[in-house]
Amino acid sequence: MERSTTVVVVGAGLSGLSAARVLRAQGVDVVVLEARDRVGGRTLNHPIGDGKVVEVGGQWVGPGQERIQSLIKELGLETFDTYGTGKNLFEHGDRLSSYRGAIPRVNPLALVDVQLAMTRLGRMVRTVPTDEPWKAPKATLWDSETVASWTRRHMRTRLGRSLIGLACEAVWAADPADVSLLHFLAYCNSADGLESLISTDGGAQQSRVVGGSQQIAVAMAEELGDIVILGEPVRRIAYGDELIVSGDSITVRAAQAIFAISPALAGRFIYEPALPASRDQLTQRIPNGSVIKCMAIYDEPFWRDAGLSGQLTSDRGPVKVVFDNSPPDGRPGVLLGFLEGNQARELGRWSASERRQCILDCFTRFFGPKAAQARDYVEKIWADDEWTRGCYGAFFPPNTWTAFGDALRAPIGPIHWAGAETATRWMGYMDGAVSSGERAASEVLHDLAR
Ligand SMILES: Cc1cc2nc3c(=O)[nH]c(=O)nc-3n(C[C@H](O)[C@H](O)[C@H](O)COP(=O)(O)OP(=O)(O)OC[C@H]3O[C@@H](n4cnc5c(N)ncnc54)[C@H](O)[C@@H]3O)c2cc1C
Repeated sequence: MERSTTVVVVGAGLSGLSAARVLRAQGVDVVVLEARDRVGGRTLNHPIGDGKVVEVGGQWVGPGQERIQSLIKELGLETFDTYGTGKNLFEHGDRLSSYRGAIPRVNPLALVDVQLAMTRLGRMVRTVPTDEPWKAPKATLWDSETVASWTRRHMRTRLGRSLIGLACEAVWAADPADVSLLHFLAYCNSADGLESLISTDGGAQQSRVVGGSQQIAVAMAEELGDIVILGEPVRRIAYGDELIVSGDSITVRAAQAIFAISPALAGRFIYEPALPASRDQLTQRIPNGSVIKCMAIYDEPFWRDAGLSGQLTSDRGPVKVVFDNSPPDGRPGVLLGFLEGNQARELGRWSASERRQCILDCFTRFFGPKAAQARDYVEKIWADDEWTRGCYGAFFPPNTWTAFGDALRAPIGPIHWAGAETATRWMGYMDGAVSSGERAASEVLHDLAR
């Protein structure tokens, strides 16, 4: 099959569909090629009966996420608050304790240690430009170390370091030893600070989409109609005299292209001519995180009767973060546990039944024997997924922003780069995906007008 169009978009996740939507609104001819037989990419609803769903990919939206929030409204969708009534749990080693509010009842020395570190990091965050992190005054120094090495040098207590480490795993699905300190700071700045990234009330985990977040992509694709072509993995891009994007059974000739996928996947195409070294080496250096999202489904959210919010943090693991992920009416009850970073890497190698047992054992340790009686269990290992290969998104290891950062968004001839990783606001989030698509579309409109 051969097609000619003005712009070809590769990827029908939130970024690709947002780009196509902007271009179509300006009367530009667009074709979207999507490898999977569905849209939504890293957002994916999973039915759990009675017309209800849980999301196995991205799900939360929060204050300050203007692009995704306004898109949700435009598409006629609604949000509801994440359940958070009652006491939260904190597990430190063998000790399980409950607390209200944002701060667990732990050794005050550790709390002071964390507070001082957060204040210090907060000051550093504000000096890192999110569009050009390599231009921060101390960029070279901060990009030469990891979050782990910084906490080792600047924090006094083991528990304090462990709490910052937990935050790192929860946000990047990577170990603190994986992540460049400069990346940590740039990412926090793109999201109004670390506290906003890790908070539920007033933060990134505040609300969910009624009916599931994949509906955002589904609704955009319905608007776009048959220009979204599914089941068509792109393999090869020729961008010499002519731009030709080839999938398994389609060849699209276009004036401009938007690649709306993570940098690691964008490095796997055959480019003719080969990409400039800086862009290729960038894609060799930005890996995706490792996360397994695991949910146990119960007839009732029984933990609510015990006055618990369902939210838990543990420094023991393997499940270290838990949320009540029940539908808006609270039926059925759903506990969501994340395996992140090294836990996801290790347990991803286990058999499905071993992993399920391990997750239910963790939930039972946290919430009592009723947690062992799940009526269903749902999980998604994003690293296994051929068209994602790891989540939540990409993270930058040391010496990547400073050496290759300027290649992240710079167009190469007619090729433009979108995807949540290229966002300067809410980098790596659904909001960032939407704004990155809109930014790439405006670059294309600018080029077409020349
Ligand atoms: C478990 C999990 C939890 C998350 N939690 C949150 C959250 O709570 N809140 C939040 O804001 N964000 C969250 N995120 C991140 C968020 O989901 C992503 O940032 C966002 O969905 C990325 O959108 P995108 O369009 O940039 O990329 P993607 O969604 O990855 O879209 C890329 C598309 O390209 C397609 N593709 C890949 N290769 C090819 C090819 N060769 N040819 C054609 N098509 C191809 C893919 O199939 C995919 O559809 C989470 C992600 C995961 C996985």
